[in-house]
Amino acid sequence: MEVIHRVTFNKVAGVDKQLDSLGITYKRSDLPAGYYIITFEIKESDTNWLLVENLIKEKNGADFMGIVFTEEEILKADYSRMLVTYEQGYPYPESEWQNNRQKIYEDYCVECGVYKEQSGNFRTKNEFNTKNGFVSLMWSSAATFCSPEVINAFTENNFSGFTTKDIYIKNYNEKSKYKQLSVNNVTGNGMLNENIKFENCKKCGTNKFEFIKDNYLMYKRSALQDIDFQKTNEWFGTGWIAFQQIIISRKVAKVILENKWKGIKLEPLLLE
Ligand SMILES: [Zn+2]
Repeated sequence: MEVIHRVTFNKVAGVDKQLDSLGITYKRSDLPAGYYIITFEIKESDTNWLLVENLIKEKNGADFMGIVFTEEEILKADYSRMLVTYEQGYPYPESEWQNNRQKIYEDYCVECGVYKEQSGNFRTKNEFNTKNGFVSLMWSSAATFCSPEVINAFTENNFSGFTTKDIYIKNYNEKSKYKQLSVNNVTGNGMLNENIKFENCKKCGTNKFEFIKDNYLMYKRSALQDIDFQKTNEWFGTGWIAFQQIIISRKVAKVILENKWKGIKLEPLLLE
């Protein structure tokens, strides 16, 4: 496990030359009126990390921390959590999403976004334009869409615990070649991480935890089922974002890694 930082500086910070001299490559995004921001990722094991850490403090840089695991670490774990990391577009039509959410989900809570199950289908304005195996839509609370190649592999391997849902382009007359991964089996109450912040919904009473991004998800082994796909009993997210984490077996993780599919992040579960 390695801690990684996604760092952003604005033009005013004036750190470009310093970063150049350290040999750090960054992406510059130009904004209106000659303004720009630069972003880069750096691991804590990088020899430049301490210098960058000081620079962040000195120049008010933005720092988002996460963790990355090696393939070896993932393949050693009995179970991993998987999260789609690549988003393209919005649910169609964007302007009606607020009302349409309640049509897609059964017993949808308008306060916190928690629902009983998804009965409707997502729609997108255009077919996804990507080579990634996995993609999602903005605002969709990490709905996981898979390429035909991914679905074929999952089916051919007889993985248990998943079905698929069609995704429509615009008005239900055309289907996307991507399909939504639908996971219906729910784990027992199994999260062991302590002191995770949560929001309690005044309307439906659900506790929604802050997404754990800088640590393992620690879980009771006895809360898990012996299947390839399941989702956590616990809800995660803030505001209207609400999702249950998808947990996959080692067999699934192996197929994802072997195929080098992009748009997805795997993190081993720490079991007790
Ligand atoms: Zn609620």
